[in-house]
Amino acid sequence: RAKRNGRNTFMHYTPDMTERALARLSLESDMRRALEREEFHVAYQPQVDMHSGALIGVEALLRWDHPEKGAISPKHFIPIAEENGQILALGKWVLQKVCAEQIRLADAGLAGIRFAVNVSGRQLLHEGFLEFIEGMIKTGTCRGEALELEITESVLLSEPELAAEAMQAIRKLGIAISVDDFGTGYSSLAYLKQYPLNRLKIDASFVRDIVIDPDDRAIAQTIIALGNALNLEVIAEGVETEEQRAILVNDGCSLGQGFLFSRPLAPAALLEYRRDVVKNA
Ligand code: C2E
Ligand code: MG
Ligand code: MG
Ligand code: MG
Repeated sequence: RAKRNGRNTFMHYTPDMTERALARLSLESDMRRALEREEFHVAYQPQVDMHSGALIGVEALLRWDHPEKGAISPKHFIPIAEENGQILALGKWVLQKVCAEQIRLADAGLAGIRFAVNVSGRQLLHEGFLEFIEGMIKTGTCRGEALELEITESVLLSEPELAAEAMQAIRKLGIAISVDDFGTGYSSLAYLKQYPLNRLKIDASFVRDIVIDPDDRAIAQTIIALGNALNLEVIAEGVETEEQRAILVNDGCSLGQGFLFSRPLAPAALLEYRRDVVKNA
């Protein structure tokens, strides 16, 4: 049997596959070293009240500056880290980093807003995850009320009971929970009411053509109505133009995130952003 599998593998072999497999292997081992070598950092993208422009929160986005390959997108390396389990160590590092920077920024005047951190399903369902956060809160290295976790719909459906339990415990720590990329996953609406959620994030794919595509606009309107009905905040992702902002605001979505307001920023630039917003208000 092994032989047959081996032959099948061999039959499907192409030089391109070897190359890709090797590239992936080298990325995996680079990733393992990248934490020690401090090649990661976190960028913070403002979330705003789209009426006033006021800063209401930020999303923490992981950045990897590879010494040879340059910046590698999380869209590329996060899925690999999720598959091979490195996401657990990486996720801890992100949480620690964000909490530390949140506290420093609060001391520098950026208080009263939440810092949203993306959490993969594997992380959320890992037994050590909750203990890790609890530990940080107990030792004062993290403030629950300043934290928000973004999860995707797939997590809600793969392990509904475990996910619900973890989320209840997270909420007890004062941490908020939002559903990322809402509308792109399984979207089993019945599940929504079983989870202690605070916020839905309208996926950028519905915002992109919202000005010209009535279907996308109808979906966004439906998510906004759903949020209102279930008492959840709704925030639009990927807002790039004034026209998109105007439609969203008109349709009752007052929170937004996107390049129209700001790109993801380094901590110092975030402080400056807040200063400018306040000055221009
Ligand atoms: P996401 O959580 O949906 O994050 C939003 C993505 O949209 C970010 O991409 C952000 O830079 C980008 N974006 C924001 N505004 C705009 C806009 O106006 N136009 C366009 N075209 N894009 C915009 P990024 O930073 O490349 O992250 C990609 C994904 O990687 C994230 O999607 C998230 O799923 C994942 N990710 C990032 N950091 C982490 C992390 O620390 N942990 C985990 N588990 N996943 C992460
Ligand atoms: Mg996110
Ligand atoms: Mg998203
Ligand atoms: Mg995403």
